[in-house]
Amino acid sequence: MNPFAYLRAPDASSAMSARLRTPGAQYIAGGTNILDLMKDDVERPALLIDINSLELSRIDARDDGVLLGALARMSDVAAHATIRARFSAVAMALDETASPQLRNMGTIGGNLLQRTRCAYFRDPATACNKRVPGSGCGAIGGENRTHAILGTSDRCIATHASDLAVALVAFDAIVHIVSSQGMRTVPIRAFYRLPEATPQLENTLAPGELIAGVFLPFPPFPARSTYIKVRDRAQYEFALSSAAVTVSMQSGMIAAVDFALGGIATVPWHVPAAAASLIGQTPSTERLENAATTALEGTRGYGQNDFKIVLARRTLIRALAAVTA
Ligand code: SF4
Repeated sequence: MNPFAYLRAPDASSAMSARLRTPGAQYIAGGTNILDLMKDDVERPALLIDINSLELSRIDARDDGVLLGALARMSDVAAHATIRARFSAVAMALDETASPQLRNMGTIGGNLLQRTRCAYFRDPATACNKRVPGSGCGAIGGENRTHAILGTSDRCIATHASDLAVALVAFDAIVHIVSSQGMRTVPIRAFYRLPEATPQLENTLAPGELIAGVFLPFPPFPARSTYIKVRDRAQYEFALSSAAVTVSMQSGMIAAVDFALGGIATVPWHVPAAAASLIGQTPSTERLENAATTALEGTRGYGQNDFKIVLARRTLIRALAAVTA
């Protein structure tokens, strides 16, 4: 590991100014991602800015929804009564992330900003446009069984690793961001960037900005939800395919529905038209299959990951069937 300086920031403005004035500085909260990347020599921050003293760990249930502080621990959010009752897909996604030890340390903000699990990204001896822009992509034509089939480019096909982000997209959560100009908000559906020609840019945070929290609005209707994650082993594994679905049923009919897909795309995947096609319908195998077909339009396999095209379809249909039954 390379030598680095350490600063415990007393407040957001000190943290942001330290980051802006120190090239290569990084924030650290739970540390479950950045420390691994430093040990692997993928990240070499000159300065680690510890933001754990910032008052951003509250889970605030309000009349209109729940505000999750960026420093709230994943395990605390998963155990919160309102999250379990009103946003069960979020609790399920958190429960199925990593291990209990990592969920006790990992924060909501850190989970949303975690880097990809692409093995080439984590091996500095290989080509990777995300790690070293312009160096190539080892996964295209290489080991790509776990890689994306949607949202890819000829520069990068890495999947987005977060389970939580998939559930937050289904619920149309809002990311609260603090910058030197004050607070701004971005719908999580617009927070992540496709790799296109610049896979090193993964989200819409400007330099120095911090995620302050995530607001989960209560759906305007009584809703139930689920998160289904398919992976190689039952625990401590990233998704090969996942689906978060929220639905409101009235008299056997789908009154409202939305969903997002994970493990198969470079960003949490959301196709509003696919969900909209189900509204006003009674659920049937054919209708759920048609919605899945729409959701997965444009898939492209890269050889080893071709199986995900079928797997993603089955995952989504299973989640839709479970929540509309
Ligand atoms: Fe790097 Fe993306 Fe290619 Fe993986 S898929 S090697 S992260 S450019």
